[in-house]
Amino acid sequence: MPKKMSSSSTPPPASRVSIGIDLGTTFSCAGVFRAGKVEIIPNDQGNRTTPSCVAFNESERLIGDAAKMQIAQNPTNTIYDAKRLIGRRFDDPVIQNDIKMYPFTVVQEEGKPKFEVTYRNETRRFFAEEVSSMVLGKMKEIAETYLGCIVSNAVITVPAYFNDSQRQATKDAGTIAGFDVQRIINEPTAAAIAYGLDKVGDPEKNVLIFDMGGGTFDVSILNLSDGIFEVMSTSGDTHLGGEDVDTRMVQYFADEFKKKTKLDLKQNKRSLRRLQTAAERLKRSLSANTQATIEIDSLYNGIDFYAVVSRAKFEEICGDIFRATLHPVEKALSDAKLHKNEIHEIVLVGGSTRIPKIQDLLIKMFNGKSLNKSINPDEAVAYGAAVQAAILSGDHSETVKDVLLLDVTPLSLGIETVGGMMSILIDRNSTIPRRETKTFSTYADGQSTVLIQIFEGERVLTQDNNLLGKFELTGIPALPRGTPQIEVSFDIDTNGILSVSALETTSRKHKKIVITNDRGRLTKEQIEKMVSEAEQFRIDDDIARERVEKKNLLQEYIMQIKTFISEELSQNHLNPTELDFLEERTNEALQWIEENQTASPDEFESRRLALEASCTPFLLRLFAAGLFPTTTPITERRFAAGAPGVAAVAVNKTPSKESEERGPKIDDSD
Ligand code: AMP
Repeated sequence: MPKKMSSSSTPPPASRVSIGIDLGTTFSCAGVFRAGKVEIIPNDQGNRTTPSCVAFNESERLIGDAAKMQIAQNPTNTIYDAKRLIGRRFDDPVIQNDIKMYPFTVVQEEGKPKFEVTYRNETRRFFAEEVSSMVLGKMKEIAETYLGCIVSNAVITVPAYFNDSQRQATKDAGTIAGFDVQRIINEPTAAAIAYGLDKVGDPEKNVLIFDMGGGTFDVSILNLSDGIFEVMSTSGDTHLGGEDVDTRMVQYFADEFKKKTKLDLKQNKRSLRRLQTAAERLKRSLSANTQATIEIDSLYNGIDFYAVVSRAKFEEICGDIFRATLHPVEKALSDAKLHKNEIHEIVLVGGSTRIPKIQDLLIKMFNGKSLNKSINPDEAVAYGAAVQAAILSGDHSETVKDVLLLDVTPLSLGIETVGGMMSILIDRNSTIPRRETKTFSTYADGQSTVLIQIFEGERVLTQDNNLLGKFELTGIPALPRGTPQIEVSFDIDTNGILSVSALETTSRKHKKIVITNDRGRLTKEQIEKMVSEAEQFRIDDDIARERVEKKNLLQEYIMQIKTFISEELSQNHLNPTELDFLEERTNEALQWIEENQTASPDEFESRRLALEASCTPFLLRLFAAGLFPTTTPITERRFAAGAPGVAAVAVNKTPSKESEERGPKIDDSD
């Protein structure tokens, strides 16, 4: 039975804070429930969503905005879409289709897809779980910076149609990122929670979740009764989203450009990319305004491009894309055996649902029914996940006290019996966690071994369902057929992850597996290896960060000396030879930076100290003359903790006695 929470309002202590993460195909978003409400956690750029993108180059690994920003220069080593690959086998048609379109390489290893990149001039391969773990690790770091404490617990969301293998792989990604994954929940369930549609005692409801993001479109119909979420149907299109709208507009503008100039810019990648960015901006603008302008200087062959597009024209150009969302809605309704009048709530999720025409079409289809869109559609899933995370961490506040923790299995689970028949142990949409046992027997006289093959799916014959795993139970006593009793138990935990065991009751022979090896799952050893590699990556990232800081310190120091040199006043206190000396030293240092971009942080540091040692005697004379520039020098400690790259720098890390006495004050307050 669903468990109710008791009420009180103290938030969990920091160490037990758990966050909710919407691990998206294109963007990820994290939320935390604090002081009775959900806060969406902004990243280091101040953005509330972070690109699910990881890039590698000759010196460092970049994740999120930094990775996305350099994608044009480094397309073959910038990985996105790991979510499309996670938990699938390489020969899966979905993967075969997608990899044709990717600018990066996907190879096969042990039947599983791996991304291949060049990192620090070496070829490296990563499973989708590893790439997703890097994104999750970034979300962890973002949350830790925001909350000021270690965050080790998380609830992560997955699409409702994800099978066991994809769920397990997502959970593994969380583990590799250093999380204790408290639960994997369905995205539409999280969205429904975000809208407060999960309150105990509310009348039974059918909720349609319409989720259109950048690359995918998902429709789910949930039935909510007594706080239990039953996924009644899912439908959608794995290649329909805002990016299709952008591409359509790019086509349109390229044609317009050709009409005006007779020039075809379609072969020019840079022009196309600039057009794509501008088209996306125009699209967003047309969600709020009835007219928008696109203006790009020197788009192609030095020719500027300018166009005004009305919302009506935009809807005409992209009309078929918008209308294509309706068919999956109809399919979801018919699969759920519901008439559209039986839908009580329509919830919008995903940035593309802001497009007014999409909303209009949906309202019309549901005979004027109003849409539920009070929560930011980019954030609804993370919002709901944060609520779940709070409950699992023992938050008892008023807002979440009636929320329930139940979810359901997306597909039926069973084993193969004689003739390739599917014998179901756990029905689709059963609430989880759940344990079911059924008794089977042998098919032949004296049969000493049985093969237990585990499938998921709704078809009668196992050949039409998905094989999840198999094992043999041996040593069954030789008895006439049908006599031995073999108890097969299926156990699904709260994350939807399945363990299967078989017990022969007379001999007590027993065997158990957690569905791991087949169908794209990683082994325990592989996960452990990745956890330790992830740690190595964290170390590499720290070094890269330190390198940037040390390099900035050196550069800022050089800049400051150069400023002194160019200042007229300093020339009254230093003779031309001395000025030349400073000029030479700084030029040398600049040259060195140019040639040693990937030097270690220590090398940058010693280079700066050496430069300081040779320049300080001259500078001390300027300090004495009160000619220090207006920027207040600050210490390395503060510099490192603040924003690297600000135009202030310690002139001397440990000021000499002389400089302490005669130089300006060094501010080391943090
Ligand atoms: P999501 O994957 O949910 O973050 O959605 C990302 C998609 O939503 C991208 O294709 C965006 O261009 C699109 N999007 C975001 N805001 C708007 C808006 N105001 N109007 C139209 N599309 C938008």
